[in-house]
Amino acid sequence: MGTMRARWKAILAVAFGLGVWGAAGTDSLRAGEPLPPLELRETAASRVCLVTVRNSMGLPRGYATGLLIGDGRFVLTDLATLVQPGVVQAQVRFEDGTTRTARRFGFADPVLGVAAIALDGDAPLRPGFVLAAEESPVDGSVAVTSAGWEWGATLKLVRGRLVAGKSGADLAAEVGCNPPAARQAFMSVNGGVVVGTSGSPVLDGQGNVVGIWLAIAGKGRPIDVVVPAAAVRQALLSAKPELKDFADLPASLWPARVQRMKGETPSPAALAQTVRSIRMQVLCKKCKGTGTIIVTRVVGQHRVGGMVQTDVRRDRETCPDCGGEGTVMDDSAYKVLTLLADQALRILLDSGVEERAREAAHVNVVDVLEAMGKLTGRSRRAFIDAAVKELGRGAGDSPRGFVAYAQVRETLTGPDGDYVVFAPLHSGRLLAARKDGLSVPSGEGQDPPAEQGPPVLNYGRWVVLAVVAEGAFDLEGREVVIVRPAAWVPGPSLGPPPSRERPPGESDPGESDPGRPPRREDGDPGFFGL
Ligand SMILES: [Zn+2]
Repeated sequence: MGTMRARWKAILAVAFGLGVWGAAGTDSLRAGEPLPPLELRETAASRVCLVTVRNSMGLPRGYATGLLIGDGRFVLTDLATLVQPGVVQAQVRFEDGTTRTARRFGFADPVLGVAAIALDGDAPLRPGFVLAAEESPVDGSVAVTSAGWEWGATLKLVRGRLVAGKSGADLAAEVGCNPPAARQAFMSVNGGVVVGTSGSPVLDGQGNVVGIWLAIAGKGRPIDVVVPAAAVRQALLSAKPELKDFADLPASLWPARVQRMKGETPSPAALAQTVRSIRMQVLCKKCKGTGTIIVTRVVGQHRVGGMVQTDVRRDRETCPDCGGEGTVMDDSAYKVLTLLADQALRILLDSGVEERAREAAHVNVVDVLEAMGKLTGRSRRAFIDAAVKELGRGAGDSPRGFVAYAQVRETLTGPDGDYVVFAPLHSGRLLAARKDGLSVPSGEGQDPPAEQGPPVLNYGRWVVLAVVAEGAFDLEGREVVIVRPAAWVPGPSLGPPPSRERPPGESDPGESDPGRPPRREDGDPGFFGL
């Protein structure tokens, strides 16, 4: 053990590469001519990576920007993104397509909100960034460039000026958490920032890191802070040289705006537009939703003076287009439903969106699902057909939305919590959703579950589900699609309870005991093998 410790001490000292830079001092950092923009971009492209955190099933749980440091063994990134339920590894990807995996970290600081994850493999990847040893002036005189993976999709550079930011105490007061024990001043960048990502390096003209930009969830609005690179560097130098598993990561002090799904979070207005679009598409145009039309018939003629007058009769009849249902369901209406599921989940998962807007999004989806639950006759059949067709594509190019009637089957213990398994009507596939996500309308893992009232996901219950598929697993030859639920409502009863016997020891999802020990070891790749 002692040898191991000594070995890591040596490796880490080299890896962080801080001793070497310390000798170089800050003169060399400031003396150089500013890099031409193209060169700065190349520097960023080879060192700024997209960090995707995954659970033991390999499903992505969030995205952040990371920066390669030192001799290229470590990547600094947003701590909060790493600290999510079930996250066991991170994949880093650079713009040139180079990828590496990290399963351990060498440093994590709850107040600074950053962690250094160790890239797998013996050889360093390539030289990383230099972290500025001294704090930069925050009077607006320093031109900086933030480099980050916008919405987890594209490396983007944005220019601005370094200015003073909040103190740790002010930030704590603003977000409503306990102030840090040690004094800490943050910086800020005047001008644009790269949106939809946290952990972006803020570079000076020479391409050295002067700060790391973090997305923090304020009360009702996101707060941007820049952690001084000098403070991170100092903390790295005094860090105990050892590598630990992600499970041992400390939580960040700050409530973070973790980007949980790749891509932009839609605006609440965009979601409202989707809801209007569904209402328009589902409403029968011919009868305007009334189910009946007035039919005018000629029943005869008579003469009045020299004029022929037509006798007509107006009859109220069942609308031929919708069969009296008032609703029309088709594939294009179903497509809008899948978009709704996707948009709603993105809003619900984004803690940077105002709580009120997230609640409104949930209410909107629930309203639509309740309407789907009330479909009858041909529009219900059309909805089922569209859902079956969509489900037939499986997890495919995830993430993608599904809305379906489904019946609650068993619960399964996954590596990151209990899953409820649903059997969608007339589909050979099963859907599995993390149980805690089924009662949490917003901010997964952050806010206390809102009370949903009486509806309980009992064994055999029918529901209308709006979910987003993330990946797939094989269960006894049947594909189980792993989904994140946006919302569910009790649905129409569409069949008897499943005839399949519950496996021994399997509990009713509605009455499961959260305190019971997992039936399988965490991280067992065959955990769905029953
Ligand atoms: Zn009609």
